[in-house]
Amino acid sequence: MAVMTAPPAVQDGGPSDVPSDVPSGMPSGVSRLSIPRTSSLPSLAPAPASRRIGRCPVCNPQTIAASLTPEQGKSGSQGPAEPAERPAPRVTLPTGSVRDLTHVVGPDWPVFDLYVKPMEIRRLANLAEHEYNALELTYNEHIGTHIDAPLHFDDDGLSVERIPADSLVAPLAVVRIGDRAARDHVTELTVDDLLRWESRHGRIPDRALLAVDNGWAARINTPGAFLNFDEKDGLYRFPGISVEAAAFLVEERSVVGVGTDSPSLDPGSRPADPYTHRVILPAGRYGVECLAGLDTVPDVGAVAVVGAPRHAGGTGGPARVLAFL
Ligand SMILES: [Zn+2]
Repeated sequence: MAVMTAPPAVQDGGPSDVPSDVPSGMPSGVSRLSIPRTSSLPSLAPAPASRRIGRCPVCNPQTIAASLTPEQGKSGSQGPAEPAERPAPRVTLPTGSVRDLTHVVGPDWPVFDLYVKPMEIRRLANLAEHEYNALELTYNEHIGTHIDAPLHFDDDGLSVERIPADSLVAPLAVVRIGDRAARDHVTELTVDDLLRWESRHGRIPDRALLAVDNGWAARINTPGAFLNFDEKDGLYRFPGISVEAAAFLVEERSVVGVGTDSPSLDPGSRPADPYTHRVILPAGRYGVECLAGLDTVPDVGAVAVVGAPRHAGGTGGPARVLAFL
């Protein structure tokens, strides 16, 4: 069924001068720039019964039941009102160094090829003939390192251009379950993992981006290993986030988003329901999938900047994700 294309040869998961002993807290002596934050967390109110909560073949092709027609892009600027503004805590942005948490994406990026076409890059102009260089890109929103906007799974959710800018700058908390994922490719982040992390580092910061390091990012360099499709069983085998852990993060903690270095918030081979995307996105939080370089940042102390796109009515899109240490 799925045929993996060769992944890109270059992976830009972070600078090569990353120290091997990255401290687990904020490096001392790093100057910090204080920036104001002004808007509120997205609403935690449960979805009304009439609300359409989606399922996505792009994010978890094994849960397909629904139409593949992308309706979300039509909603344009007629979405819900912006969240009410209220004073919010200030965040301090470290200015010590920057890590790139973004994969290089191109025509070779592995896609769930029943539903997503590979990225196309066409040269539009070159300096010799046209006096400038320019490319034209054609790509699915959910390719490469990318953000899932609430609209991706909720007709009433924010489209990508409406996500408040200050929700895209967030304390970065990294939970590492790579040892387990190496043994069990479809392992899921659990509430116990989160509680263990908190026993070491303290409570997950308010308005954090909680990211899961499954040790999965380097697999992009091995053809077939990132989506890890099992031809024999017809299943994708990659790790994800349990529904219980997702509910804990949006109900018991106040994350603005949840990230993973694996292809999806949901693990590859779980049956249709329960469904992690349906917990995180309709709660007004965003997802970040296919992160790179989480091994170059501390468990706590960095601040993430999710450079989400702003195309009208978007359900997500490739994002440059940076971590300030
Ligand atoms: Zn996605």
